[in-house]
Amino acid sequence: MEHRLSSRVRAIAPSATMSVDAKTKALLDAGRPVINMSVGEPDFDTPVPAAYAGIRAITHGQTKYTAAAGTVALRRAIAKKLQEENGLTYTPEQIVVSCGAKHSLFNVFMTLCDPGDEVIIPAPYWVTYPEQVRLVGAVPVIVQCDESTGFKMTPAQLEQAFTERTRVVLLNSPCNPTGAVYSRSELLALAEVLVRHDAYILADEIYERLVYGVEHLSIAALKPELMPRTVVVNGFSKAFAMTGWRLGYAAAELPIAKAMASLQSHGAGSPSTISQAAGVAALDAFDPAMVAEFKRRRDVLVEGLQSLPGVQCLMPDGAFYVFPNIGQLLQRRWRGEVIGTATRFCELLLEHELVAAVPGEAFGAPHNIRLSYATHYDNVVQAVERIRRFVEQLD
Ligand code: PMP
Ligand code: GLU
Repeated sequence: MEHRLSSRVRAIAPSATMSVDAKTKALLDAGRPVINMSVGEPDFDTPVPAAYAGIRAITHGQTKYTAAAGTVALRRAIAKKLQEENGLTYTPEQIVVSCGAKHSLFNVFMTLCDPGDEVIIPAPYWVTYPEQVRLVGAVPVIVQCDESTGFKMTPAQLEQAFTERTRVVLLNSPCNPTGAVYSRSELLALAEVLVRHDAYILADEIYERLVYGVEHLSIAALKPELMPRTVVVNGFSKAFAMTGWRLGYAAAELPIAKAMASLQSHGAGSPSTISQAAGVAALDAFDPAMVAEFKRRRDVLVEGLQSLPGVQCLMPDGAFYVFPNIGQLLQRRWRGEVIGTATRFCELLLEHELVAAVPGEAFGAPHNIRLSYATHYDNVVQAVERIRRFVEQLD
């Protein structure tokens, strides 16, 4: 039978990060010793108190639906966290817990955007943003940023991107894929532009805990006028190594939160009861040793990449990615073949040196590749050697 799929799903591509990861895991299953630097998934274990809280939920009958927006216990704990750690005042009713921050983001776009509305997205961006925006019929407006500004959007660029259709401005700091972290003065400068326009701000702060020697700041806490039109998205996947528990949340003004909860009541029912119980315990179980270990890996990776001819690599301040520019290598040849694109570079690197990276095209940056250092330190060291060997063989 010839299947007829909706134009909505025909217009999207599968998540590049998840597809490279799936391909890599298949190679690993087949016994190939691939170093997987593709997906953004901490290699640490879920904190023990969170794991036990999940087990306890299962054995103590917490296995039924919860309210669509999540349990009161978790929403209270999140409100407390947002107040204490981010300086953001929300009531538990303003918080909607979802099946991962990815799901929260989707709820936000569904709730705030009508077809034809524009969403400003600074590039390099995480693959999922433009696809979700398109899925709801809105239009991604990409603001191209590069190494010259540390991959950060300037106030002038933001100002220029606004039109009368702008509905949401997306800010992701610390950023996936670049690791860029906006400073206080940079956020205040963007805030100056934002207060002059009538648009929502979607602050994806999922990497907030993963910063190295700099501070993470929530834009809404810096400029109280922005609070009513900011939606904060965060989750448990990165800070608590809980990717498989599927738990994230959004915090917003009450009418927005209520609308997201009704949307979710039809789309997902409620997030997992078990994961929510684990989430309450996780919020008190953050392990700073994880940050120290990430920093150690980042340092050795960046130092190694910077020593490779033809590779430029900024030192990122946050998240667990590096985003080297390999533009100069794209005209070079691998065994007679001009490499041409970052996608081909990553294919050849995977095939011949068994290092999995995600090509920059997926993030709106065709001269870069993304390497995740959410993998063991020894793997990071070895990956640098493999990349060096690959680059040295180019003509
Ligand atoms: N935002 C960003 C920037 C991310 O990198 C991720 C990672 N998947 C997410 C949101 C979503 O995370 P999750 O759905 O696992 O909570
Ligand atoms: N955010 C991670 C990444 O970019 C996880 C995979 C995904 O959800 O895209 O690799």
